[in-house]
Amino acid sequence: MKDSMDILVISEQTDDKSPTRLTLELLGLGRRLAAENNGRVGAVVLGEGADIASRELAERGADLVYFLDNPALSRYNPEVWATLLESLLRRNPASLMLAGHTSLGQDLLPRLAFSLGAGLVTDCVEIRWDGSFLFTKPVYGGNAVAGIKVLTPLALATVRARVGEALPPSSPGGELIPIDQDPPQETRLTVKDRHYLEAGECPLEEARVVVSGGRGMGGEEGFEVLRELARLLGGAVGASRPPVDAGWVPSTCQVGITGKVVAPALYVAVAISGSSQHLSGMGDSGKIVAINKDPEAYIFKVSDYGVVGDWREVLPAFLSKLRELASA
Ligand SMILES: Cc1cc2nc3c(=O)[nH]c(=O)nc-3n(C[C@H](O)[C@H](O)[C@H](O)COP(=O)(O)OP(=O)(O)OC[C@H]3O[C@@H](n4cnc5c(N)ncnc54)[C@H](O)[C@@H]3O)c2cc1C
Repeated sequence: MKDSMDILVISEQTDDKSPTRLTLELLGLGRRLAAENNGRVGAVVLGEGADIASRELAERGADLVYFLDNPALSRYNPEVWATLLESLLRRNPASLMLAGHTSLGQDLLPRLAFSLGAGLVTDCVEIRWDGSFLFTKPVYGGNAVAGIKVLTPLALATVRARVGEALPPSSPGGELIPIDQDPPQETRLTVKDRHYLEAGECPLEEARVVVSGGRGMGGEEGFEVLRELARLLGGAVGASRPPVDAGWVPSTCQVGITGKVVAPALYVAVAISGSSQHLSGMGDSGKIVAINKDPEAYIFKVSDYGVVGDWREVLPAFLSKLRELASA
């Protein structure tokens, strides 16, 4: 078997070292595209305990999984990741490399595209094979979509959640190939500080339920109520931009065109008006529930369910019903 493939998916792992839901979706997408152009799909896993995710990816659609299990890779460092991936790609040329449109994907792929002289499309909502890859991404705050073809032999793309479909486990699995290279010791970039989620908190991009608050929450205390709601629903807390600008919540909570793109099964928008900049970060959610005191708020036009009312009155009733259901 030759050591090259046409499509390579960069894996991200959860704290328990499994591949993230988005990684499995990308693998499903890669599998479909590879089948259409008679190619193969591979995955690359970097991290401490990388063999765990590698085995799962090999069972869930990857023909080949390159992995490097090393304690020096326990936390993401852009220079280290880029160096390892660049040399992997030079040894094993691919025609398409996929990563999630996550903080890591948005940081890593531009670096790789630059060093490899490859074309890059970020924030893809569709990728098709049409004799060459055709990428679709939202533009103008999500008010239009652009179709893009990349002319370099290798194309790189970051892809939103729910664009691909995760495949069920199947056997025999793909081949596992350890990467025979040590992570670089010397880097120009030093990571000085890291902020972690609280125990039990779920990363926004991975959450099945996102409860977001807007300017109308009025302050940090309003977000305490949303945290309780998110906890009861097993989800994560997000925000529109004004609460981030006001310092009520960290910038990692921001959903939208200059924040995170999420696509949970359920998105609850509380006191958010529904600007195009916000909608472009959550418009692909499964079901959208809006709570807003203004019946004319645009968010109701894109919601599946809407409650017109002050969140101070609506949420306590909602929370007490949820507590009742949780204890039943
Ligand atoms: C370049 C650029 C990038 C941007 N990027 C982003 C981005 O990534 N994400 C983002 O979200 N925004 C972004 N914005 C800002 C965006 O344009 C909007 O200003 C912002 O989304 C509005 O946030 P909001 O809905 O919380 O606030 P508002 O538009 O002020 O809406 C507040 C809503 O709360 C309701 N409300 C008030 N009090 C209550 C109450 N007690 N109970 C119930 N409802 C209540 C009001 O009726 C209103 O609908 C960006 C803007 C620019 C120019």
